[in-house]
Amino acid sequence: MNASIFNYLIGFLIISFSACDATSQVAKSKAPLANFADLETYTFEEVEKSADEWKSELSDLEFKVLREQGTERKFSGDLWDKKEEGVYTCRGCALPLFDSSTKFESGTGWPSFYIPKYANTVDEEKDSKFGMVRTEVHCARCKGHLGHVFDDGPAPTGLRYCMNSASMDFKGKGE
Ligand SMILES: [Zn+2]
Repeated sequence: MNASIFNYLIGFLIISFSACDATSQVAKSKAPLANFADLETYTFEEVEKSADEWKSELSDLEFKVLREQGTERKFSGDLWDKKEEGVYTCRGCALPLFDSSTKFESGTGWPSFYIPKYANTVDEEKDSKFGMVRTEVHCARCKGHLGHVFDDGPAPTGLRYCMNSASMDFKGKGE
């Protein structure tokens, strides 16, 4: 998990090119990182399935995004504009990933958060595809691709977790 924290720091040192959208209206934040060490951790066992098993459980789009690191079209998903209180979970394995209280309007057309709900349910990895250096974000349990994280988010972290609706489900408060 320390590798994740390392990646958060590296994120501030690299120039991230946003594939999500370069026209994000979010102001650059100079606020210090929130203390990720203060976040609770979540207990889980890893999930491993074959591509065929995933194909039988996911829609074509979900498979393409979660298992092949695809990206849904902006403003096409069902979660970017959701404003209800609740928790965003992994569509592959139901692991809780983000809380509605940390969601913000990024103007990108993808659901955007400034911090994960738990310190250990999302993992990050350097992604150099398409000639861009970005930080890829995936579910720590099933390794499903969720999106990317950029350093142009709002306070208190200055981070923008740009996720795909197809990678997540939403559980409203009390559900
Ligand atoms: Zn998962």
